[in-house]
Amino acid sequence: MGFADSAVRDSPAVTLTGVTIAPFSYAPAPESVRPTLRSEYGLFIGGRFVEPKSGAAFKTINPATEEAIATVADAGEADVARAVDAARKAQPKWAKTKPAERAKILFRIARRIQERSRELAVLESMNGGKPIKESRDEDLPLVAQHFFHHAGWCDKLDYAFAGAKPQPVGVCGQIIPWNFPLLMAAWKLAPALACGNTCVLKPAETTPLTALMLGEILQECGLPDGVVNIVTGGPDAGRAITALAAKGKVDKVAFTGSTEVGKAIAKALAGSGVKLTLELGGKSPNIVFADAALDQAVEGVVSGIWFNQGHVCCAGSRLFVEESIHEDFIDRLRNRMRSLRVGDPLDKNTDVGAINSKAQLATIQRYLKAGSDEGAEKFEAACDLPKKGFWCRPCIFTGVQPSHTIAREEIFGPVLSVMTFRTPEEAVQRANNTTYGLSAGVWTEKAARALEMANRLNAGVVWLNTFNRFDASAPFGGYKESGFGREGGRQGLSAYVKLGGGR
Ligand code: NAD
Repeated sequence: MGFADSAVRDSPAVTLTGVTIAPFSYAPAPESVRPTLRSEYGLFIGGRFVEPKSGAAFKTINPATEEAIATVADAGEADVARAVDAARKAQPKWAKTKPAERAKILFRIARRIQERSRELAVLESMNGGKPIKESRDEDLPLVAQHFFHHAGWCDKLDYAFAGAKPQPVGVCGQIIPWNFPLLMAAWKLAPALACGNTCVLKPAETTPLTALMLGEILQECGLPDGVVNIVTGGPDAGRAITALAAKGKVDKVAFTGSTEVGKAIAKALAGSGVKLTLELGGKSPNIVFADAALDQAVEGVVSGIWFNQGHVCCAGSRLFVEESIHEDFIDRLRNRMRSLRVGDPLDKNTDVGAINSKAQLATIQRYLKAGSDEGAEKFEAACDLPKKGFWCRPCIFTGVQPSHTIAREEIFGPVLSVMTFRTPEEAVQRANNTTYGLSAGVWTEKAARALEMANRLNAGVVWLNTFNRFDASAPFGGYKESGFGREGGRQGLSAYVKLGGGR
C-alpha cells in the first residue's frame, strides 16, 4: 500500500496549558485485516450481481495511494429502470411480510454487519480515505445501530403513528454521497425496509465498494430478491432515478448530497407528488464562550472540523470564540494541531486521512487561496504529507470577516474559519447569518445560557459541550439550504410511510 514501511516518526513538542510535552516517537500501526474483494462488480439487481446493460464500467481507487481497487459497473438509464422494475415487483410481497419477519431479517443484517465490521471498516477507509479509527469506531458501530434500531420499529409502526394506519410508500430511490458511504446507505435503507418499502440505492461514484459488500450481506441474510437494488455510477445514474420518479415509477426520493444537486432534484420533482427528503450542505457554527472548559472545547473544535478530513455536512466549520479568550483559545488550538497525525488512513494512529478525490482536493485548494487572497491569516499543522494520494494539512484561518468566501461557502475540507463575538446576542446573530441550518455547537458551563442558545440557533441539531455526536434514535436534518426532512428516530420513519386512517 506504500505506507507500511514508513519510518518511525517523531511527534513535535506540544505545549498544553503551560506544560510542555516532550516529543515522542511512534511507529506505524497499519491495520492487518484485508477485505475479501472481487476484482469486478456488476450491479446488484434482483438479489444478484448482474452485468450492466450499458456495458460501461469504471475503476474505483484508493485516494491515499491512487491505486485502483476494483472495477465497478457504471449504470445507464436502462439499468436504473431495471433496478426500479425489480424493486416494484418485490414491493407488494415485502409490504405484506409479517412485521416480525421483516424485523428478523433486519436484525440478522445488523448482526452480520457487526460480524464483518472490521472488514467493512477497512474497505471504507481504503475506498474513501477516512482514518481507520473513525471507520472502525464511529461509522461501523452506527451502521449496525441503524439496522438494530429500525429492526425494532418493524412491528411497532402502529404505535409510532398511533391511529394513522401507516402504509409503505412503495419504491424508494436513494442517492447518497461519498463522505459516509456505508452509514448513509444504512440511514436510507434501514427505515425504508422497516416500513415495508423496497429500494434502489445509488452510492457516490468515488465510494461504491462498501455498498456492494452490503449487497453481499443482504444476500447472505436472506433479504428477498429485489427488495434492495444497488446501482453504481455517476450523476447520470442519479438523474435516471429522479427522471423515473418524475414519471411516477419511483414513489419516494431520498437524497443526501450538495445543495446544488438537491435544488435540481427538487425542481425536477416539483408538482409530481413524489415524497422527497433532502439532506444537503452546511456551514455550521461552533460557539465557544469564555466560561467554557477550554481544553474540552479545543477537542470539540478538533472533532468538529477535522473529523473525516472535514468532509462532514454538519462540520463545525465556523468557529466563534468570545473575544476575551480569543488569543488564549487560538494558542491552545494551534498547539493541539501540532499533534495531529495526517497520513495513511489504515494506520491506527492516523487522525486525519486522505482527501476523498482529486476533484475535492482542487476545490479545497481554491478555498485556501480565496481565504488568503481575501485577507484572512492561515495557520496549518506542520506535517509531512505522503508523496502519492490526495492530502491537505488541517488548517485554520483567523481574521475572517463574515463577508469572506471561506465564512460563507461550504468547503467540505479540513479548513476552519475563526471569528469572534462579544455578547450572546452577537453570537446568535453571527451564527445564524448563513444560508444553511444543519448543526451548531455551544460550549459553556452555564446551563441556562446553553439552553437559550439552543433555542435561538437555526439548526436541525445543536450540540452542547460536544460535537458530531450521532444516534439512530435522534432525528437529523436541516433548515434552509441544508434541506428538509429528518433521518433517524421516529421522525425519520415518517418519510417512509403514507398515513391513512385517523390522520
Ligand atoms: P453531490 O451532490 O455531487 O453528489 C451526491 C450524490 O448525488 C452522488 O451519488 C452523485 O452521483 C449524485 N448526483 C450528482 N448529480 C446528480 C443529479 N443531477 N441528479 C441526481 N443525482 C446526482 O455531493 P457530493 O459532492 O457527493 O457530497 C458532498 C455534499 O453532500 C456536501 O455538500 C455535503 O454537505 C452533503 N452532505 C450532506 C449530508 C446531510 O446529511 N445533510 C450528509 C453528507 C453529505
